[in-house]
Amino acid sequence: MTMFTITEAIDRWGIQDPDRPVYIEKEQTATYGQLKKESDLIAAYLQENSQPQRPVVVYGELEFAMLPCFLGATKAGHAYIPIDAHTPKERIEMILSVADPEIILAVGDWPAIESSAQVVSIKALLQGGSTAFKAAVDLKPVTGDQTYYIIFTSGTTGIPKGVQISHDNLLSFVNWELRDLGITEGMRFLSQAPYSFDLSVMDLYPALVSGGSLTPMTKEVINNFKELFCVLPSLEIEVWVSTPSFMEICLMEPTFDGEHVHSLKTFLFCGEELPHATAAKLLERFPKARIFNTYGPTEATVAVSAVEITHELLKQYSRVPIGYVKEDTTVYILSEDREVPTGEVGEIVIAGPSVSKGYLNNPEKTAQAFFVYQGEPAYRTGDAGRFHDELLIYDGRIDFQVKLHGYRIELEDIDHHLAKVSYVKQAAVVPKYHQHKVQQLVAFVVAAENDFEKEFKLTKAIKEELSQLVMDYMIPQKFIYVEQLPLTANGKIDRKGLMNEVNAT
Ligand code: AMP
Repeated sequence: MTMFTITEAIDRWGIQDPDRPVYIEKEQTATYGQLKKESDLIAAYLQENSQPQRPVVVYGELEFAMLPCFLGATKAGHAYIPIDAHTPKERIEMILSVADPEIILAVGDWPAIESSAQVVSIKALLQGGSTAFKAAVDLKPVTGDQTYYIIFTSGTTGIPKGVQISHDNLLSFVNWELRDLGITEGMRFLSQAPYSFDLSVMDLYPALVSGGSLTPMTKEVINNFKELFCVLPSLEIEVWVSTPSFMEICLMEPTFDGEHVHSLKTFLFCGEELPHATAAKLLERFPKARIFNTYGPTEATVAVSAVEITHELLKQYSRVPIGYVKEDTTVYILSEDREVPTGEVGEIVIAGPSVSKGYLNNPEKTAQAFFVYQGEPAYRTGDAGRFHDELLIYDGRIDFQVKLHGYRIELEDIDHHLAKVSYVKQAAVVPKYHQHKVQQLVAFVVAAENDFEKEFKLTKAIKEELSQLVMDYMIPQKFIYVEQLPLTANGKIDRKGLMNEVNAT
């Protein structure tokens, strides 16, 4: 358990060991010394030019310059809001109208968006920095209950919700990951998730606090798949952090295994269900690595539970459990605000020190989801779950339940069984509606290699195998074969996009 603040814990590497690498790219490596120097300069600038109460936007992609901006903002007492450079203009405008920032630190080229905030180019600031303003005095970094970062997630109303994560929320998460998830000093982390997605916090802060480094895998690199797998072994990444969907894409490459990529020691997954077949394949490909399935919403700071994947676990559970709850946190399974008997399914409610104080400037949504339970801050996840031998089991979203001919069906339930069918690599099922009623279930399928000449024969074979696994009414009526399933900007399967596609006519 570190007794430092996040800022102190990171700065100590810059002071004691300034040449230690922090950000490793093909062409150049940035050090902790550089990180400290640049974040100090940015903090000094902010101290002179802004009010600490207001958040700072940091705009850019996966690049080193984002790090000194995050740390510089928090050193000067500001919460920061990461906005990824791939974000559509309208969404940025909505975020700005909710957050009302005073300053935007632009690492990338700021798009032409009208705003009352002052846009500061980081390049220009750092170039002129050492002479243009004096070193900061009496900085008051973000601590305790003060907000450290704000991550915007999609809201049901169409307006993004800004989840406020405090310094102590973050500290609770980082301490847990460092202690329980196989992280040791100086490890090399993959950085793949955009900073605007809280999965990125799973690599960023544990790496920086433990003197480790980040190696980015940008969209451009990922799009050049052939090259990616040529360079991957040379990157010497030790800790892999991604969504299961991204891993499934990587597993399509046969050379992605422990023999070709020796350096990988730890895999951390979060953000969506880890399919049983994917977990099994990973174990087979990387028999010496440690693989963790972790679970949690942005509102409770990245993740609150984790379990190591083993052959025994996979044998015992047909659906991969989402883990043992971290020590300082309690998960309650509630139904209509009452705890259900152990083992029964209900809504997962998280209570403890990593639960957010709520959504920025949105008291209504905050009141709906956040409350105090047994004296602790608590959050209703909207996830269904249950406990089995202290292991939390995920049971789908409360809001992705459909009814077909009166039968209640969880769409994830069908996906899960379809993925077990031998002709299926990956699948997502969506409902086709007619006047708000489900008419048909449509399966989007990435098929495994097969010898069927005609699609309808493949469909027949899949239906036959699936009928062994699920009730008849859960077998989709329509199958659409695709090369890969579309992903959201955050790397999850874009089920909503598929729903739109199916319901467009
Ligand atoms: P986000 O806030 O984007 O991280 O999304 C949080 C939601 O993702 C959770 O409420 C769950 O519905 C889902 N989720 C996260 N991790 C897992 C997991 N390991 N297994 C199943 N669902 C997950």
